[in-house]
Amino acid sequence: MTDSLAPLRSAEIIAVGSELLGSTRIDTNSLFLADGLAGLGIALRAKAVVGDRRGDLATMFGLALERVDLVILTGGLGPTDDDLTRDVVSEVLRLPLAEDPAIVADIEARFAKRGMRMPAINRRQAMVPRGATVLDNPNGSAPGLLVHVGDRLVLLLPGPPREMKPMFERVAASVLSPRAGRERFYRATVLVAGRSESHVEEAIQPIYAPLATAVPPIETTILAAPGQIEVHLTALSDDAELAQRALASARERIVAAIGDDAFSLDGRSMEDIVGGLLRDAGSTIAVAESCSGGLLLSRLTDIPGSSAYVRGGVVAYSNDVKTAFADVPADLIAEHGAVSEPVATAMAEGIRARMAATFGVGVTGIAGPGGGTPAKPVGTIAIAVAGPSGTSVRTVRFNGSRAQIKHYASQSALDMVRRTVARDAAVRRG
Ligand code: ATP
Ligand code: MG
Repeated sequence: MTDSLAPLRSAEIIAVGSELLGSTRIDTNSLFLADGLAGLGIALRAKAVVGDRRGDLATMFGLALERVDLVILTGGLGPTDDDLTRDVVSEVLRLPLAEDPAIVADIEARFAKRGMRMPAINRRQAMVPRGATVLDNPNGSAPGLLVHVGDRLVLLLPGPPREMKPMFERVAASVLSPRAGRERFYRATVLVAGRSESHVEEAIQPIYAPLATAVPPIETTILAAPGQIEVHLTALSDDAELAQRALASARERIVAAIGDDAFSLDGRSMEDIVGGLLRDAGSTIAVAESCSGGLLLSRLTDIPGSSAYVRGGVVAYSNDVKTAFADVPADLIAEHGAVSEPVATAMAEGIRARMAATFGVGVTGIAGPGGGTPAKPVGTIAIAVAGPSGTSVRTVRFNGSRAQIKHYASQSALDMVRRTVARDAAVRRG
């Protein structure tokens, strides 16, 4: 029968539940489902969150039915008055509900196992729209439902993630995959540091614009993430090899345009990339941090195996600690101020010598919200990296909250280490 039906190319997700509209619960089901649909090559065209109101759900469901091949609803399959999904779907599709005795028996058995009688309201969960397929729920009482509407499919899944996930996986394998067509999504990413979103856009727009109409077409999105810009490339194709080749060539051209600001070609984080470079070079690192408060060392040590290259560090927050633990001369601080290039340099060189590391890093800045001056506003960070071929230092300026500025400081410092280690390795290779 699946042969005669049109392939499923597009989908929409509707998460049902008033609690998802408040500030305490968030719709995570759609994230899981988005991933599953992408794996099947079914384009997710929209997702929605709707409260437990009959009219709202009916409107939303009706709209989805008009525009996509597959509508997935999660939640609202419970036994209580506010669980409306089953009712609304049957109304909109004009498929009358009938009680399925097998489901009643199942739910009764679940209660009996816990020594309880099934409350009458649970019978609601046994109501099935005419012609629908019942999907077993081994992890809860609400069964799922699958309704064929011509060539289109409507899938009703329970709200609790631990019930929804295995049910979706079973349906994906048995029903969706055979009808998904042969096209799949393939992806590549390039992560960029040290450039703004618009500068990345400017550099790569001439490259990616024509890709949208190439064969296979490649869709490009540029996202600003904390401390980095992400370029995502997506190809939809029925030919895996062709798609991978097209993506690799697109990525290569983008990297050529961006140069060494492109730091990750496989989605790995900055700390992961820096760790790999240090490990490959057989180098070690030590850090003296002020405004980043230990975040830099924390990120470096987030990487498994970092003990091979991380020597250690100090959080030298107050001036006398900078002097006592990173050997920053007190008169240098008095002369230039704690947030200055000479002090960052002294921190980097001091900690490098103290901890006998290949590279030393010094980070000092003003995380805010107070403490800024006209000459050194909040967000001013001085970063130095000391290594075998000398010390480089720079001052950067960021906007944002205290937490954001701490993150940017750690990201900039890691990026500076990355460039230094890569340059030193290139010099050594000749
Ligand atoms: P039940 O039989 O458990 O009542 P149900 O299908 O009626 O199942 P809901 O009552 O809507 O599900 O939700 C049950 C729980 O699942 C809630 O605690 C809710 O937080 C969680 N949940 C529902 N929808 C989502 C969602 N989209 N993302 C994450 N969690 C969800
Ligand atoms: Mg609910």
